[in-house]
Amino acid sequence: MTDRKAELAANLARVEERIARACVTAGREPKDVTLIVVTKTRPAGDVRLLAELGVRHVAENRDQEAAPKAAACADLPLTWHFVGQLQTNKVRSVVRYADFVHSVDRPRLVAALSSAAEREGRRIGCLLQVALDRESGAAGGRGGVAPDGVGELAAEVAAAPGLWLAGVMTVAPLSGPYAGRPRAAFERLGEISTGLRANDPAANMVSAGMSADLEHAVAAGATHVRIGSAVLGDRPGLR
Ligand SMILES: *Cc1c(COP(=O)(O)O)cnc(C)c1O
Repeated sequence: MTDRKAELAANLARVEERIARACVTAGREPKDVTLIVVTKTRPAGDVRLLAELGVRHVAENRDQEAAPKAAACADLPLTWHFVGQLQTNKVRSVVRYADFVHSVDRPRLVAALSSAAEREGRRIGCLLQVALDRESGAAGGRGGVAPDGVGELAAEVAAAPGLWLAGVMTVAPLSGPYAGRPRAAFERLGEISTGLRANDPAANMVSAGMSADLEHAVAAGATHVRIGSAVLGDRPGLR
């Protein structure tokens, strides 16, 4: 095994252990929590090593980086998640490789994803990114729909050809009433998910939790955690 592969294997084992322990504490089954490894800023070679180590879900946040990486890894049995803020002019590229988009936050993006997915003959799972730094009104600084806009946006996704409503996603907010309270933020996301599933039982994905706060996310019912640095090491810069 190369040094890098051994390092990734050890990091993965630590993260899986953290998830397993958080599940025990929460009385949940580890199989109900899916690990998505966020490979942004890392080369395709790392993605290949992760696949060899059994990772099946990877995520990226910028199309410019993700498109060539996904193409270089097209032979691998991977599900690709797009988790970054998404401009409509990138949508046509993203729907070629992404199976899920976690950052759906506005009607214009739904329309763009729908027509691009149709053109490519694909069906994309859409998660509504919820901005918990505001309870109503426009999206927050890092994107996302306010909680009171979730129902309307969900209906637009559900009615859009080429898309299906997969669930909800959030990033622990840095400002507003949930700043510094990731557990409370993820519990709020759980309530929003419960409301969504009452209308659409298939929309059962709850994407929450990163390297620093995955335990809080598992405790609050996350079905998908998005882990970057705890698996791949610290990223240069602040992304
Ligand atoms: C980078 C990123 C992650 C992973 O963050 P880490 O702190 O490295 O685990 C998760 N979600 C999103 C949306 C990201 O951009």
